[in-house]
Amino acid sequence: MTKAAAIRAVKGFRDVLPDESRRWQAIENAAVATFVRYGFGEIRLPILERTELFARSLGESTDVVEKEMYTFVDRDETSVTLRPEATASVVRAYLESGLAQSDPTAQLFYRGPMFRRERPQKGRYRQFYQIGAEVLGREDALADAELLVMLARLLETVQARGVRLELNSVGDAACRPAYTETLRAFGRAHLAQLCGDCHRRLERNPLRLFDCKVETCRAVLADAPMILDALCDPCRTHLAQVRALLDVCGVTYGMNPRLVRGLDYYVRTAFELVAEGLGAQNAVGGGGRYDGLVAALGGPAVAGVGFALGLERLASVSEVAVDEAGPAAIVLPLDAGGVAPALRLATRLRDEGLTVNLEPSGRSLKALLRVADRRRARLAIIVGEDELQQGRATVRDLTRHVDRRHALALDAPGPELARSVRAFLETLA
Ligand SMILES: [Zn+2]
Ligand SMILES: [Zn+2]
Repeated sequence: MTKAAAIRAVKGFRDVLPDESRRWQAIENAAVATFVRYGFGEIRLPILERTELFARSLGESTDVVEKEMYTFVDRDETSVTLRPEATASVVRAYLESGLAQSDPTAQLFYRGPMFRRERPQKGRYRQFYQIGAEVLGREDALADAELLVMLARLLETVQARGVRLELNSVGDAACRPAYTETLRAFGRAHLAQLCGDCHRRLERNPLRLFDCKVETCRAVLADAPMILDALCDPCRTHLAQVRALLDVCGVTYGMNPRLVRGLDYYVRTAFELVAEGLGAQNAVGGGGRYDGLVAALGGPAVAGVGFALGLERLASVSEVAVDEAGPAAIVLPLDAGGVAPALRLATRLRDEGLTVNLEPSGRSLKALLRVADRRRARLAIIVGEDELQQGRATVRDLTRHVDRRHALALDAPGPELARSVRAFLETLA
């Protein structure tokens, strides 16, 4: 028989192994604990949505919708898409579940994988993970500020190093159209210095000029008119309130007048978390206010504000403490006869809250102890023929390699066993 070829993961997809996911768990646990303290509840969303949801929420002409979505026709002819982000799903669920009527001021958080078919490059994957939170039904500046305070606290908790908060206001329907025209006029006056993409942006959505990475375009835009100078009074007041509330809580941030969002439903508050030392892809997360989105998805005129964090990037700047300790004990049955007593012993210790590994029998004690070292266990509990005859297992201190012969009564009740093992652990170096 020929050997079957191994199957590899799809290009741009990868596995997250325990050493890495331990760090992710620490971050996710910190996020969940923080969000719950601020009154948020978790929403678990489907990964698959109707394509239309993203076409409407992200805009037909955005890069994500045009080039990066995993879209396919399901067997019933429905066009479906692997979600490229979660805000649209949160809003859809908010409307579909009736929360919009029963609890219009919902505070929801989510976590999970998102999918974008971006060009593969180092450190970027087509399945990536986000943690995010959304506040629906709140127009007041307090909602924006509280969300940002929560975000700042989370970053402190996970010890995210070198991450700064950048803030801006992108105006609203009252003041942005006039600003957009001013920006368009500015762009037209500098047409010769702008790249082809910017020529298109200029006609379709001049705010996107600020997204251009071309050096010459950036130089031109350094002198462009800024939206902060064009805000109407209500937008100006909203921003001033957000800033005052952030100051009250000692949240530090910088204003970035070039921070814009291209879609019409984004209003007022926009923010980004930028990490030093991550290169061009330096945004750890971002968010803002999207008062028009709920209506755009067929709901009532309900305001919203939220953020999303990239878990991979957050993990790369986080110095959160991760428990790297091995199991408290590893149970080693030497022969087939020791298997059942070993399982019973390990189970009772686990029932008492101890982390215990169990190895199969059939290897020499020497080989089993090598395994115990590799697993970084602190104690080995040896169940050999001699031990079975005595009804007492031998406990080996793996930090000093000292045996205590027949130290653990195999038939003792679970709590007593656990007490003995914990007493041994306390004597370790
Ligand atoms: Zn350009
Ligand atoms: Zn305005």
